[in-house]
Amino acid sequence: MGSVQIVTTILAFAITAVAVWLAVRAVMKMVAVIRLGQPDPTRFGDKGTRTKTMLAETAGHTRMLRWSVVGAAHWFVMVGFIVLSLLVLEAYFEVVSPTGGLPLVGNWAIYGLVTEWLAILGLVSILVLIAIRLRNRPTRPGGRSRFTGSTMWQGYFVEGIILAVLIMGFVIRGFKVATDHFEYPVWATPLSHAVGGVLPNWEAGVSIAALIKIAISMTWLIVIALNVTMGVAWHRFLAFFNIFFKRDPGANVSGLGALRPMTSQGKPLDFEEADPEKDQFGVAQVEQFTWKGLLDFSTCTECGRCQSQCPAWNTAKPLSPKLLVLSLRDHAYAKAPYLLAGGGKDLTGEEKATAAQLAHMDVLALAEAERPLIGTAEEGGVIDPDVLWSCTTCGACVEQCPVDIEHVDHIVDMRRYQVLIESSFPSEAGVMLRNLENKGNPWGAPQNTREDWTKGLDFEVPRVGEVDDFEYLFWVGCAGAFEDRAKKTTRAVATLLNEAGVKFAILGEGETCSGDPARRIGNEFVFQMLAQQNVETLNEAFEGREKSKRKIVATCPHCFNTLGNEYGQLGGEFEVVHHTQLLAHLVATGKLTPVQPVDGGVTYHDPCYLGRHNRVFAPPREVLGTAISGELTEMPRNSERSFCCGAGGARMWMEEKIGKRINVDRVEEAMSTGAKTVAVGCPFCSTMLNDGVNGKGAGEEVEVVDVASVLLRSVKPDAPGGTDTERLPVAG
Ligand code: SF4
Ligand code: SF4
Repeated sequence: MGSVQIVTTILAFAITAVAVWLAVRAVMKMVAVIRLGQPDPTRFGDKGTRTKTMLAETAGHTRMLRWSVVGAAHWFVMVGFIVLSLLVLEAYFEVVSPTGGLPLVGNWAIYGLVTEWLAILGLVSILVLIAIRLRNRPTRPGGRSRFTGSTMWQGYFVEGIILAVLIMGFVIRGFKVATDHFEYPVWATPLSHAVGGVLPNWEAGVSIAALIKIAISMTWLIVIALNVTMGVAWHRFLAFFNIFFKRDPGANVSGLGALRPMTSQGKPLDFEEADPEKDQFGVAQVEQFTWKGLLDFSTCTECGRCQSQCPAWNTAKPLSPKLLVLSLRDHAYAKAPYLLAGGGKDLTGEEKATAAQLAHMDVLALAEAERPLIGTAEEGGVIDPDVLWSCTTCGACVEQCPVDIEHVDHIVDMRRYQVLIESSFPSEAGVMLRNLENKGNPWGAPQNTREDWTKGLDFEVPRVGEVDDFEYLFWVGCAGAFEDRAKKTTRAVATLLNEAGVKFAILGEGETCSGDPARRIGNEFVFQMLAQQNVETLNEAFEGREKSKRKIVATCPHCFNTLGNEYGQLGGEFEVVHHTQLLAHLVATGKLTPVQPVDGGVTYHDPCYLGRHNRVFAPPREVLGTAISGELTEMPRNSERSFCCGAGGARMWMEEKIGKRINVDRVEEAMSTGAKTVAVGCPFCSTMLNDGVNGKGAGEEVEVVDVASVLLRSVKPDAPGGTDTERLPVAG
């Protein structure tokens, strides 16, 4: 070993020792913070599916590849990071000796070839990612960037380090070529040979370049170890765990559909026994999230994909799902020293730590601990109430997140505490909650008018109890029973089912609200009250039937989601379909035959709780495909990337005072297609989009109707009035 190699070896191992020590300390700190969260025993089952999903999502980049160029570039960088770590390891042999290399594979041409090309593609990819970050920088003139609010220096730092490490890899190989210590042929390693062609024959160059490469890599490790909230770097390690422990490992997208039940100490809360002084009601302190919640916050890469799709953010509301996650993460880590010292408030608000425990506590951590989780800027709140209440629970953030963060569950958990303990929520929603408690529907309509929609139909609508041999229980829903526009959809669906000879029956006055608006606003108590009542009624209606024969058809995606995905949590197991699924089946099997196509251009708006939350994208399009002339005109944001109408998450019953109205944004997009008919599959979307169209003064030119009405117009152009079909133009 020459003198140069002695120096490079000592320096390389010294900086590595410091970096590894700091990294171990950082990992221990992160684990300690994540362990501060509440238990969640549901995350450990079905390890086989969890492992498969984790491998498929990371190796296949299944979530990221939807962002084609970025996804592909990120894939090469990720694979490069894993495989090229071997080259960093190899650098430790090269600081010791200019001829050094990895044992076993070090002289293998295939190893040279694979690492060479991964490094070349990694180099190109990281340049692409840097260019994308620069092009989307928040400071660029005009437009809203998905990186707004992200810590930009961290992104540039990480990308710069990768670029430098890759370049140094070629410099090391180049010196080996120039000094004739390089084993791989030109065909396997063309770039390394090209670099070697311009470098001098200098043996010390190999060891010095290897030292620089190690120093760059270890600088990265030191910086991220000193910044444990640097998600853009830490996600490389945490994403594997976050994906593995996601809520629904077998589902297409985890964290959508059903909400996580309200839990205390890891167990679902039963309101008959729950005690707010002993049980946790929602989340009021950051440590009351589960450990998986804290892992979610730690894993955020700050990529801003969630933000770019969020309807609230896109209409100038203060909510950005990314900024919400970052605020919770930064607060959790800033408060952690106080919590780890034994601090924290019990459920009655008393301090748990003794004065001695907090005696030497950092004042910043103590100050952080005093911040309310929900509060205005003046109150020092971590999350502003306007942020919390702007969410429509549309799920676009969850859908987009490449590391499977479950934003909606966290938002509703915080709402639960505000509603159940603080009684603090937008006052206008109070009327809706009172109506649900007293009348069983959000509008406060008399229960004995639930069947009024059946009046004037030219057939009898059977009720459960009057008939036993029904195949489908038609769940009408509150909107379908009381809201004028939705009643037309209900009548259209009933007419079509009757036309197709489907045996169905309704509950009539036996039905109450499914509980969706109560649950999404955070009032789990009212939700459970309504849901238990409905589960009892439905179990009675289906008595003696196995699950596959307990079929329900619903026109409202919120009811469809709640009955199908959430009633199971309360002992109600049913086969629930949305009416567009059943209608698509009836058309496909020849039970319904469209005869006169609807004309004038049709576009379709995917309701969030039908599409994103439940993956029903094709059936409404299949129905429309058979009932209209020409092709369906898609809006730019459709299917998984559909834009919310603004009504979900109980926003239907709250005023929209900040920014642009979400429904207006969506209507402008729908109208930009030139279609004369905007088809929907949800009574709330129908209300919101109709309001938007009328607000733009386009009520005469553009019709917003349910898919069922479009089909009915085509199947039975002379259908009786009151089914919303009259104004739809038919061809011929
Ligand atoms: S659920 Fe929708 S509205 Fe709520 S934060 Fe996510 S994207 Fe925004
Ligand atoms: S999409 Fe996920 S990882 Fe990206 S900023 Fe949003 S929460 Fe963070």
